[in-house]
Amino acid sequence: MDRPAVDELTPPNRTLMGPGPSDVHPRVLRTQTTPLLGHLDPAFLELMDEIQDLLRYVYRTDNEWTFAIPGTGSAAMEAALANCVAPDETVLVPSNGYFGGRMAEMVRRLGGTPVKVEAPWGQPLDPEDVAEAFDSQEIDVVAFVHAETSTGTLQPDVPELTDIAHDEDALVIADTVTSLGGVEFRTDEWGVDVAYSASQKCLSAPPGMSPITVSERARERIEARESPSRSWYVDLSLLGEYWGEKRTYHHTAPISTTYALREALRMASEEGIEDRWERHERVAGALREGLEAMGLSLVSESWLPSLNAVYVPEGVEASAVTDGLLADHDIEVAGGLGDLAGDTLRIGCMGHSARPENVLSLLAALGDVLEGLNGDVEADAALAAARTSL
Ligand SMILES: *Cc1c(COP(=O)(O)O)cnc(C)c1O
Repeated sequence: MDRPAVDELTPPNRTLMGPGPSDVHPRVLRTQTTPLLGHLDPAFLELMDEIQDLLRYVYRTDNEWTFAIPGTGSAAMEAALANCVAPDETVLVPSNGYFGGRMAEMVRRLGGTPVKVEAPWGQPLDPEDVAEAFDSQEIDVVAFVHAETSTGTLQPDVPELTDIAHDEDALVIADTVTSLGGVEFRTDEWGVDVAYSASQKCLSAPPGMSPITVSERARERIEARESPSRSWYVDLSLLGEYWGEKRTYHHTAPISTTYALREALRMASEEGIEDRWERHERVAGALREGLEAMGLSLVSESWLPSLNAVYVPEGVEASAVTDGLLADHDIEVAGGLGDLAGDTLRIGCMGHSARPENVLSLLAALGDVLEGLNGDVEADAALAAARTSL
């Protein structure tokens, strides 16, 4: 094997406006050049405590088990399911997007039975359908996606969903991967038992450390399980011992990624969580007005500020648009997933990417690319509408 000739790392300078990762603030990037500590060093343990407090603040919770899982959002999804779902238990999962499908697949692999609550892609779940599902079978866990990234759909009525589940003694798991730190979410007030997320979406940290919070009710149920979680790596009882008082070694924490998450959370707390939700709504609101003024329509009936999914104009292939934006404008957005592949664009507005200048340059570039592809759009109207909105 010859010695490979590999150049110094010089990635292109992109603006990340896709479904994640989002742009990372220089303050957060800089922490990753900070010298490492050992994962049981008292100074590192103190920093873990700070992360727990910051996470409780952004999650709006007092839950003791509030920490970060080494891995991406899917690792946190697996942690939620592997700990809350025992073999042969039944889990209600949503059918209105791509990520509900991933949940169902994990439940199956864990030996549980997924049961779908039906709603079309682009529509939220109807609490009545959730209540009806309990009429015909025993359900142990209700899982839903608060911010469905495949369709840009926000699930409203969360307290209604949790009331229905709790009346039947079921636990509630919320996927807050694309909402935590960007869209209003209140763990305790809304009665959610387990909410997991990821670092690289609205929190704008690099991927690799994924937040999770667990209510006392869920914790008691997890600790009373007859058989341990089928996953050792994301066993919440073991992870809780490392993050809690015992400090028992479980895995080597990804030190640099932990530094970065801490700084990103510190920035969220400096901004104030409610102001941060408001910023996402304002900046993404201008993006949405611009897209609609251009003549593009949203996929979802329940708008999600952090992810705007729109149909491309007739006769235009979505991949030609994403390619053009990347090659000619250094802007990343994504095409659709599943049934929406080819026909839709997914434009993120998350964390450090959710800034007025990004929205304006994206709309200008998108108008340019669509006109170049002979799409029937009102490119100039888009910028005017977004400016007025801002
Ligand atoms: C991104 C995403 C995930 C998966 O997260 P990864 O970090 O890609 O593993 C899960 N759920 C939702 C809603 C997401 O948007």
